[in-house]
Amino acid sequence: MAESAIRIGIGNDIHRLVEGRKLILGGVEIPFDKGLLGHSDGDSLSHAITDALLGAAGLGDIGTHFSDKDARWKDADSMVFLQHVCGLLAERGYKIGNVDATILAERPKMMPHIPAMKAKLAETMAIDPAQLNIKAKTNEGLDAIGRGEAIAAQAVALIFKSKACDG
Ligand code: MG
Repeated sequence: MAESAIRIGIGNDIHRLVEGRKLILGGVEIPFDKGLLGHSDGDSLSHAITDALLGAAGLGDIGTHFSDKDARWKDADSMVFLQHVCGLLAERGYKIGNVDATILAERPKMMPHIPAMKAKLAETMAIDPAQLNIKAKTNEGLDAIGRGEAIAAQAVALIFKSKACDG
Protein backbone atom coordinates (compact mmCIF):
# COMPACT_ATOMS: atom_id res chain seq x y z
CA MET A 1 0.00 0.00 0.00
CA ALA A 2 1.30 3.45 -0.89
CA GLU A 3 2.56 5.51 2.01
CA SER A 4 0.25 8.38 2.89
CA ALA A 5 1.66 11.78 1.95
CA ILE A 6 0.06 13.44 4.97
CA ARG A 7 0.54 12.04 8.45
CA ILE A 8 -0.31 13.12 11.99
CA GLY A 9 1.23 12.31 15.35
CA ILE A 10 0.44 12.89 19.00
CA GLY A 11 2.76 13.53 21.94
CA ASN A 12 2.24 13.63 25.67
CA ASP A 13 4.73 14.26 28.45
CA ILE A 14 4.87 15.08 32.14
CA HIS A 15 7.72 15.88 34.51
CA ARG A 16 7.74 16.35 38.25
CA LEU A 17 8.39 19.86 39.65
CA VAL A 18 11.17 19.87 42.26
CA GLU A 19 13.36 22.35 44.03
CA GLY A 20 16.93 22.87 42.87
CA ARG A 21 16.22 22.56 39.13
CA LYS A 22 15.84 25.20 36.41
CA LEU A 23 12.38 25.43 34.86
CA ILE A 24 12.84 24.99 31.12
CA LEU A 25 9.88 24.77 28.73
CA GLY A 26 10.07 25.09 24.98
CA GLY A 27 13.81 25.65 25.34
CA VAL A 28 13.22 28.80 27.41
CA GLU A 29 14.28 29.23 31.03
CA ILE A 30 11.36 30.52 33.10
CA PRO A 31 12.02 32.19 36.46
CA PHE A 32 10.42 30.01 39.15
CA ASP A 33 11.33 28.49 42.51
CA LYS A 34 11.15 24.92 41.12
CA GLY A 35 12.15 23.12 37.95
CA LEU A 36 11.33 19.93 36.12
CA LEU A 37 13.03 16.73 37.19
CA GLY A 38 14.33 14.52 34.41
CA HIS A 39 17.36 12.74 33.03
CA SER A 40 17.51 15.54 30.45
CA ASP A 41 16.47 19.13 31.21
CA GLY A 42 12.90 17.85 31.77
CA ASP A 43 11.36 20.12 29.11
CA SER A 44 7.95 18.45 28.87
CA LEU A 45 6.71 20.78 26.12
CA SER A 46 9.65 20.02 23.85
CA HIS A 47 9.37 16.30 24.62
CA ALA A 48 5.67 16.25 23.70
CA ILE A 49 6.41 18.02 20.39
CA THR A 50 9.34 15.70 19.66
CA ASP A 51 7.13 12.66 20.31
CA ALA A 52 4.36 14.07 18.09
CA LEU A 53 6.85 14.46 15.23
CA LEU A 54 8.28 10.96 15.76
CA GLY A 55 4.76 9.57 15.91
CA ALA A 56 3.76 11.29 12.69
CA ALA A 57 6.77 9.83 10.90
CA GLY A 58 6.23 6.36 12.40
CA LEU A 59 9.62 6.47 14.07
CA GLY A 60 8.78 5.31 17.58
CA ASP A 61 9.20 7.56 20.56
CA ILE A 62 11.67 9.85 22.28
CA GLY A 63 12.76 7.17 24.76
CA THR A 64 13.81 4.86 21.92
CA HIS A 65 16.00 7.51 20.34
CA PHE A 66 17.33 9.15 23.52
CA SER A 67 17.37 6.61 26.33
CA ASP A 68 17.26 7.91 29.89
CA LYS A 69 19.88 5.22 30.64
CA ASP A 70 22.34 6.94 28.27
CA ALA A 71 24.82 9.19 30.09
CA ARG A 72 25.11 11.34 26.94
CA TRP A 73 21.62 12.71 27.63
CA LYS A 74 22.14 13.54 31.31
CA ASP A 75 20.87 17.13 31.75
CA ALA A 76 20.72 17.35 27.94
CA ASP A 77 19.25 20.38 26.22
CA SER A 78 16.00 19.02 24.77
CA MET A 79 16.48 21.26 21.72
CA VAL A 80 19.15 18.71 20.69
CA PHE A 81 16.48 15.96 20.65
CA LEU A 82 14.04 18.10 18.71
CA GLN A 83 16.62 19.18 16.15
CA HIS A 84 17.80 15.59 15.67
CA VAL A 85 14.24 14.36 15.09
CA CYS A 86 13.57 17.16 12.58
CA GLY A 87 16.69 15.91 10.77
CA LEU A 88 15.31 12.36 10.70
CA LEU A 89 12.09 13.66 9.17
CA ALA A 90 13.94 15.75 6.59
CA GLU A 91 16.06 12.71 5.58
CA ARG A 92 12.81 10.90 4.81
CA GLY A 93 11.46 13.79 2.75
CA TYR A 94 8.96 15.02 5.33
CA LYS A 95 8.13 18.65 5.92
CA ILE A 96 6.28 19.96 8.95
CA GLY A 97 2.80 21.31 8.22
CA ASN A 98 1.94 22.55 11.67
CA VAL A 99 2.35 21.75 15.33
CA ASP A 100 -0.17 22.56 18.05
CA ALA A 101 0.68 22.14 21.71
CA THR A 102 -0.84 22.72 25.15
CA ILE A 103 1.08 23.22 28.39
CA LEU A 104 -0.72 22.10 31.55
CA ALA A 105 0.68 24.00 34.53
CA GLU A 106 -0.87 25.51 37.64
CA ARG A 107 2.01 27.93 38.15
CA PRO A 108 3.87 29.97 37.02
CA LYS A 109 1.95 31.97 34.42
CA MET A 110 3.02 30.72 30.99
CA MET A 111 1.51 33.37 28.74
CA PRO A 112 4.36 35.90 29.10
CA HIS A 113 6.86 33.24 27.98
CA ILE A 114 4.98 31.77 25.03
CA PRO A 115 6.37 34.18 22.38
CA ALA A 116 9.94 33.24 23.39
CA MET A 117 9.06 29.52 23.37
CA LYS A 118 7.52 29.85 19.92
CA ALA A 119 10.57 31.64 18.58
CA LYS A 120 12.99 29.12 20.08
CA LEU A 121 11.04 26.04 19.01
CA ALA A 122 10.35 27.34 15.50
CA GLU A 123 14.03 28.17 15.04
CA THR A 124 15.02 24.69 16.24
CA MET A 125 12.49 23.02 13.93
CA ALA A 126 13.44 25.36 11.05
CA ILE A 127 9.80 26.36 10.53
CA ASP A 128 7.93 29.64 10.46
CA PRO A 129 6.56 30.55 13.92
CA ALA A 130 3.11 30.73 12.29
CA GLN A 131 3.28 26.92 11.85
CA LEU A 132 3.47 26.47 15.60
CA ASN A 133 0.77 27.18 18.17
CA ILE A 134 1.33 26.96 21.92
CA LYS A 135 -1.48 27.18 24.42
CA ALA A 136 -1.35 27.05 28.21
CA LYS A 137 -3.93 26.21 30.83
CA THR A 138 -4.13 25.32 34.49
CA ASN A 139 -5.59 22.07 35.74
CA GLU A 140 -8.15 23.92 37.89
CA GLY A 141 -6.39 22.77 41.05
CA LEU A 142 -7.06 19.12 40.27
CA ASP A 143 -4.66 16.19 40.41
CA ALA A 144 -0.87 16.38 40.61
CA ILE A 145 -0.67 19.16 38.01
CA GLY A 146 -3.27 21.20 39.85
CA ARG A 147 -1.35 20.78 43.11
CA GLY A 148 1.75 22.16 41.41
CA GLU A 149 3.64 18.86 41.57
CA ALA A 150 4.19 18.51 37.83
CA ILE A 151 3.97 20.23 34.47
CA ALA A 152 2.62 18.31 31.49
CA ALA A 153 2.27 19.03 27.80
CA GLN A 154 0.37 17.66 24.85
CA ALA A 155 1.14 18.15 21.18
CA VAL A 156 -0.06 17.15 17.75
CA ALA A 157 1.96 17.44 14.57
CA LEU A 158 1.07 17.21 10.92
CA ILE A 159 3.82 16.33 8.47
CA PHE A 160 3.72 15.81 4.72
CA LYS A 161 5.71 14.85 1.68
CA SER A 162 5.21 17.25 -1.18
CA LYS A 163 4.88 15.87 -4.72
CA ALA A 164 8.29 17.28 -5.58
CA CYS A 165 9.84 15.22 -2.78
CA ASP A 166 8.16 12.01 -3.99
CA GLY A 167 10.05 12.27 -7.28
MG1 MG B 1 9.98 13.86 29.04
